[in-house]
Amino acid sequence: MMTQPIPLTNLQARDIASVLHPYTPIHKLGEMGPLVIERGEGVYVYDTQGKPYIEGMSGLWCAGLGFGDEEMVEAATAQLRSLPYYHLFGAKGTESAIELAEKLKEIAPMPISKVFFTSSGSEANDTQVKLAWYMNNALGRPDKKKIISRMKAYHGVTVMSASLTGLPYNHMGWDLPVDRVLHTDCPHYYRFGAEGESEAEFVARIVGSLRDLIEREGPDTIAAMIAEPVMGAGGVIVPPAGYYPAIQEVLDEHDIILIDDEVINGFGRTGNWWGCQTLGMKPTTISAAKQLTAAYAPLGAVMVPEDIYQAYVDHSAKIGTFGHGFTYGGHPLGCALGVKAIEIYQRRDILGHVRKLAPVFEKRMRKLADHPLVGEARYCGLVGGVELVADKATRRSFDAKSGVGAQCARFCEAHGAILRGIGDTIALCPPMIITESELEELFDRLEKALDDCE
Ligand code: PLP
Repeated sequence: MMTQPIPLTNLQARDIASVLHPYTPIHKLGEMGPLVIERGEGVYVYDTQGKPYIEGMSGLWCAGLGFGDEEMVEAATAQLRSLPYYHLFGAKGTESAIELAEKLKEIAPMPISKVFFTSSGSEANDTQVKLAWYMNNALGRPDKKKIISRMKAYHGVTVMSASLTGLPYNHMGWDLPVDRVLHTDCPHYYRFGAEGESEAEFVARIVGSLRDLIEREGPDTIAAMIAEPVMGAGGVIVPPAGYYPAIQEVLDEHDIILIDDEVINGFGRTGNWWGCQTLGMKPTTISAAKQLTAAYAPLGAVMVPEDIYQAYVDHSAKIGTFGHGFTYGGHPLGCALGVKAIEIYQRRDILGHVRKLAPVFEKRMRKLADHPLVGEARYCGLVGGVELVADKATRRSFDAKSGVGAQCARFCEAHGAILRGIGDTIALCPPMIITESELEELFDRLEKALDDCE
């Protein structure tokens, strides 16, 4: 099926004239649309022509409660009426921030002492790095500062979080990554397993290469490793069983903390509150954002245990003020919506719903795996990635410039589904409130788009 060029609407023309679009091949913006979205309801969004699309990506992996949830709208309105803005600097506080910190401690996968609020996932991960450095200065280990990340990881776009990210577009042209960041192997067996290597052998090999990296650099120079339980924006990569426990052993041996980036995984996406619970990871600290507020307002959070918090206190006692904080970190609107979102996840048993739908998601992903264009269909809970290949038998990828993922995502749009092309992979991350029939419909539309690509 060919997409016909259609004349630009007034809003599209104004968009092209004035908006610099993130994560867009901006040299081709005119050809691509843009698709201007006007409103949303449930799992659907509508463009300015009134055409509905199933939002199969929850926006950017974040709108877990879909669009237009009245309870969320009411919580936002009430908070804006009572206190539209206040901050937490200089020992000020707000009820919404206190309540959200308490809620996060209640649902955390390990004992948490304090929550530091940011406005985004990137700021949360940036903060994590600064806190790891601050902690090691406090502990009298000023050389223990490098951070290990992984190829294909996604941790954000600020200078440090983009450096942690292991994707070419985040480094090329931006003079990144910065010093002190080391990248180790991506735990993707389908793509990086050697010929004839079993999954267990693959895990042993890449964990061995992590150990070599640490020993080569010197454990006394390495503060932390950061990892998403299921890697999201790198193409939805679910590491093999046994990977995290093996990694953990190496990190523990060398006194390296594990920063768990739950920005996509958190709040039910994998069927548990946290991806680390699904994947068997034992984090030292956690970054959260996105579904923290179900994307009804921007907010991020860093969660730290008591012993680490005490190190900050000791250091502050020595050097003075804990000099870190964002004007909008812990914004009352975001915090009130975080409290409400968690309450809804609990009251409506959203995690139970994800678990109930996961077998349907799995059944449809397995069916997609049989499609001649699909090399691998991977999934966990309600997140998945469908990797398209030029040759199924040999796993040969499409030419890097083929744009097959983006093309398939455009065909999806033509069929009324919004999904995301990440390189050769089509990502799926529907709102967690999606019904079974809406989910089946989403897959039907994706199948039609795949047939268009042939
Ligand atoms: N960490 C992960 C795992 C993410 O997927 C993202 C965004 O997609 C981020 C961090 C950055 O979050 P933000 O875009 O809110 O800065």
